[in-house]
Amino acid sequence: MSANTPITVAYGDGIGPEIMKAALDIIQAAGAKIDIEVIEIGEKVYNKGIAEGIEPGAWKSLLRTKVFLKAPITTPQGGGFKSLNVTTRKTLGLYANVRPCVSYSPYVQTKHPVMDVVIVRENEEDLYSGIEYRQTDQVMQGLKLISEPGSEKIIRYAFEYAKANGRKKVTCFMKDNIMKFTDGLFHRVFDRVGEEYPEIEKENWIVDIGAAKLATSPESFDVVVMENLYGDILSDVTAQMTGSVGLAGSANIGDKCAMFEAIHGSAPRRAGQNSANPSGLLLGAVMMLAHINQSVTATKVHNAWLKTLEDGVHTYDIYREGFSKEKVGTKEFGKAVVARLGEMPSALKAVIYHDFDVKMYPHYDYSNIKKARKELVGVDIFLHWTGGTAEELGNMLKNIAVDGLKLTAITNRGVKVWPDGMKETFCVDHWRCRFEAGTNSSVSHSTILAQMEKFRSEGFDFIKTENLYTFDGQKGYTV
Ligand code: NAD
Repeated sequence: MSANTPITVAYGDGIGPEIMKAALDIIQAAGAKIDIEVIEIGEKVYNKGIAEGIEPGAWKSLLRTKVFLKAPITTPQGGGFKSLNVTTRKTLGLYANVRPCVSYSPYVQTKHPVMDVVIVRENEEDLYSGIEYRQTDQVMQGLKLISEPGSEKIIRYAFEYAKANGRKKVTCFMKDNIMKFTDGLFHRVFDRVGEEYPEIEKENWIVDIGAAKLATSPESFDVVVMENLYGDILSDVTAQMTGSVGLAGSANIGDKCAMFEAIHGSAPRRAGQNSANPSGLLLGAVMMLAHINQSVTATKVHNAWLKTLEDGVHTYDIYREGFSKEKVGTKEFGKAVVARLGEMPSALKAVIYHDFDVKMYPHYDYSNIKKARKELVGVDIFLHWTGGTAEELGNMLKNIAVDGLKLTAITNRGVKVWPDGMKETFCVDHWRCRFEAGTNSSVSHSTILAQMEKFRSEGFDFIKTENLYTFDGQKGYTV
């Protein structure tokens, strides 16, 4: 007999304590081998003036057990509070958000009776870096960062998840027809990593039409991997399509730690009434069991839960007069699942879990990546300027280019307005002025500094610069 696995548990706020108790009672009755360490998070901690919503000492438990089962918390209204989920994801390096979205028709009403989709969302990069600026009176900027290691980690995770769970297809959503560098990288990494999984079907969609297809024909999707923002939106949409947010669990996975939860919030108005559905958190706990290599127990719990749904034992959120057999509270639902441990569903598809821990598959070693020959070939200087037309700006700037650089274009929010711009183009106070060295020549940092000094001496308010590089002769910037 192996030793118990220590896990960290937070009972959270609102309905959190009730659904956590029910979920833990069920998995322990099923034989989960766990040692529970309880930590305090959420409202009470925020109210003590701790902006992160988690006691500093609680990190010790998380870093020791590396497995976190978390009930929902109530996020206080008003400013000054940090999202506990964002802090936890970033601190523990939880790069993969995994959300199975399954229909349980006819037991749960849904417009999409055939649906068994797993959304794998990248959790650390993209527009969520929080790097944002106000640059001019009229323009704000948010930075979208996509890295090759970040893309590889999430895409490899999606393929390994598919392999471990008998899934047949991995689909990638992105928008590389517009975001050629960021989403283009994500797409390329998907194609490259996908080659290592010949047994799994690969498919990619531009996110807009892909999302439309997901919303109308979810039965044609299996595992879908995407960047952070697309995943944030589409994992909620997909979960909602199954008929109830109360039923979905979610895993946040990193190389060293993992966090499991329900996708819904703390439903404060339902707190203390023994009415909430514990299923979402229970399915989160089941994913946790597979993660800590207790997949036999995970399988047992999940199938008993499916049998409970099938038997018409329903909490208020999915109860239907004339269809459901029994309307139960949180505790009674938990007891009904425990009573069915060892039973299998007869109409709903039974589930089999396999042990699946990120440490089980090989990871790419980035230390050996070949460095490209990188050459500095120009600079984009961004201006805050309201002095006239694009034509006038171009005529002024072309005369102040320093030796070794030439003004080649001015754009306004990405639209070329000089040379040969259209008078009809609407311009704001934010101008990108591109200076390039001639063909096949490079420039030095001091030339760029000289160009900026020239801007300063001529009284132009430059707000940022972006160096233009080639990598092994390929342009590292959009034209
Ligand atoms: P919510 O998910 O708590 O509730 C939305 C609706 O779903 C409500 O009608 C609620 O009664 C119902 N519902 C939710 N879970 C249910 C369950 N298990 N059983 C039955 N019905 C359920 O979302 P909200 O009302 O927007 O947010 C409430 C609080 O939760 C807010 O403070 C919010 O910030 C927080 N929240 C926390 C998390 C988290 O901790 N991961 C996630 C989302 C929201």
